Amino acid sequence: MTVRDLIDHPDRDHLIAGATALTSPAQGTTLIPDPGRENRTRWAAPLRDGATVADALPLICGMGILGAVHTLGEQRFRPCTAPTCRGVFIDTTRPGSRRYCMPGLCVCGNRANVANHRARHAATRGRGANPQ
Ligand SMILES: [Zn+2]
Repeated sequence: MTVRDLIDHPDRDHLIAGATALTSPAQGTTLIPDPGRENRTRWAAPLRDGATVADALPLICGMGILGAVHTLGEQRFRPCTAPTCRGVFIDTTRPGSRRYCMPGLCVCGNRANVANHRARHAATRGRGANPQ
C-alpha cells in the first residue's frame, strides 16, 4: 500500500488501517514532554536501533495521516480540482475550502484560472464575430 493509495480512497476505516500499517517500523508510540512548550506534550515514536530513513519515512507519513484523520476528518483528503491535474492533498486550512494541490506555488490554480479566462475570452470573441 502506498500513501497515494490511501489518499485516493479516503474512507475513514481504510485510512486508519493503512496509516496504522505504515507506522509498523515504530516500537510503539507515546507522549513525551515538549521541550519547546511548557506543560505540553508531543507524540514520540522510537525506531529500532539501526533504522534507516527508509524506515522512518512511512512512519512519518502514517502518523501524519492518522493525525489528519483524527483532527480534521477524512473529508479533508481530496483530489485537486484543476482539470489537468491528478494531484491529491490533505486540506489543513482552517476553513477547509482548499481546491488545488499546490496553491502556494500557484501551479494548479493558475492553470485552471488561465483555462477559464481563455474559455471566457474565446466565448466573448465568438459572440462578437457572429452577432445576432
Ligand atoms: Zn493540482
